[in-house]
Amino acid sequence: MKAAIAAAEAGAKVSLWERNSSLGKKLAITGKGRCNITNDCSSRELIGNIPNNGLFLHSAFSRFDSADTIDFFTSQGLELKTERGRRVFPVSDNAGDIVSAFEKRLKQAGVSVFYNKRAQKLSVRDGVVYGVYDDKWHLEKADAVIVATGGKSYPGTGSTGDGYIFAEQIGHTVTALYPSLVPLCASEDWLDELCGLSLKNVEVEAFLTETDGSEKLLAKEFGEMLFTHFGVSGPIILSLSYKVCRALILGSVVLKINFKPALTYEQLDQRLLRDFNKFSRKYIANSLDELLPKSLIPVIIRKSGIATDKPVNQITKDERAKLVALLMSFPVHISHPRPLKEAIVTAGGVSIKELSPKDMSSKLVRGLFFAGEIIDVDGYTGGYNLQAALSTGYIAGIGAAK
Ligand SMILES: Cc1cc2nc3c(=O)[nH]c(=O)nc-3n(C[C@H](O)[C@H](O)[C@H](O)COP(=O)(O)OP(=O)(O)OC[C@H]3O[C@@H](n4cnc5c(N)ncnc54)[C@H](O)[C@@H]3O)c2cc1C
Repeated sequence: MKAAIAAAEAGAKVSLWERNSSLGKKLAITGKGRCNITNDCSSRELIGNIPNNGLFLHSAFSRFDSADTIDFFTSQGLELKTERGRRVFPVSDNAGDIVSAFEKRLKQAGVSVFYNKRAQKLSVRDGVVYGVYDDKWHLEKADAVIVATGGKSYPGTGSTGDGYIFAEQIGHTVTALYPSLVPLCASEDWLDELCGLSLKNVEVEAFLTETDGSEKLLAKEFGEMLFTHFGVSGPIILSLSYKVCRALILGSVVLKINFKPALTYEQLDQRLLRDFNKFSRKYIANSLDELLPKSLIPVIIRKSGIATDKPVNQITKDERAKLVALLMSFPVHISHPRPLKEAIVTAGGVSIKELSPKDMSSKLVRGLFFAGEIIDVDGYTGGYNLQAALSTGYIAGIGAAK
C-alpha cells in the first residue's frame, strides 16, 4: 500500500492487486489489534533493532524514517501515541484505523485497487519486466512491478509466500526461510501443570550450550511471559526467540527464568526464611502461597528434590539454597520453535545481494522491485518490521515511478 501510494504520488499510473477481498488483513491484527506502526527513534536505532541485514536499509531509512511514518498518518488526521519503549500506536488502539488511513490515501493518490486478484507469475522478457499474470492467466502489462507479497507466516492473512516463488522463477535467490518472533517449544515434564500461567516482571536469560558443555548468554529480557501446552510464549519470549531460533541451528538452548528479579540472592533467602517462620508447622507444599503462583509451587518443590510433605521447620539450609537457586534460575529446555505459520515474522527471503539498497530494484531484472517482509530483512518487536516495510515500500514506489 505504501509503495503504491508513493508511486502514484510520484506520477505513475498504479494498479494494486490484493488477493483478499479487503486490504491489510495482516496489518489489522498487528500489535494485538492495536498496530505498533513504528518506533519513535533515529534511523541508527532502527538499524540497530533490525539485526538481520539492518544496514541494508540505511538508504531506505534516510529517505523515509519513523518521523516520516508519524507524519504520514498524523497529516491524514490519524492521531498517534508513543508508549513504553517508544512504540507508536494509533490513539484509538485500533489497527483498523491504520488500514483505513491507507485506503483513504490510496484513493486520494488515484491508485486503482483490485480485490480478489491474485498475482500468479511475473512476465520477464530479455531481462526486463513485462507484466504480471493473474490467477486467470490474464497478462497485465506494466513498465514496472513491485512485489510486496509479505512473508510466509500467518498464511490466513494472505501472506502465503507467493512472491518467493515469483522471485525464484526469474532467477532471484531466496535465502532459507525460518520463523522469527515466534513462541518456543520446550521439552519439560511440567508443561501441562503450568499451561496458562502468565507472569509479569520476570527476567529470562537465553543460553546456548556449547559442545564443551559451557553456556553462552545469548540474550536477556525483562517483562511478561506465558506458559503454554507446548512451552513458552508472550512478549519477552518472542523477543528472545529471534536469537534462540538462530542458536538452535548451532546447539541446544536453555532459558533461565528469574521469578524474582527485583531481589538479590540474600534478599530472596531472607524472604523464604520469613515465610518458613510464619508457616513453620505447615508442609513445604503449603508454605509458598504468598511468594509464588499456585501452579508453580509443586513444580518448584519437585525440581528441588524436597519431599512435598516435609514440614517447613525441617528444611535444611542446603534445601533452602536449592529453592532460591531455582527461583532465580528456573530452567526451560527449548526443543524447537513453533512453525513458520505461527511466527510474527518470516526470517530469510529475497537476497539483498541482488537488490539495490537505493530503491529495492532487482539487479537481475530491469523494472522489478521488492518491498516489505519478502526481502531478507527482519527485526525485533517494537514497530521495526512495519517501519522496514514502509521505508522499503516508499523507495520502491518512487523508484518504480521513474
Ligand atoms: C500477529 C502479528 C502481529 C504483528 N505485529 C506487528 C507490530 O505490531 N509491529 C510491527 O512492526 N510488525 C508487526 N508484525 C509484522 C508485520 O505485520 C509484517 O512484517 C508486515 O505486515 C509486512 O508487511 P508486508 O506489506 O511486507 O506484507 P503483508 O502485510 O503480509 O502484506 C502482503 C499482502 O500481499 C497480499 N498477497 C500475497 N500474495 C499475493 C498475490 N499472489 N497476489 C496478490 N496479493 C497477494 C496479501 O494478501 C497481503 O495483503 C506482526 C505480524 C503478525 C503476524
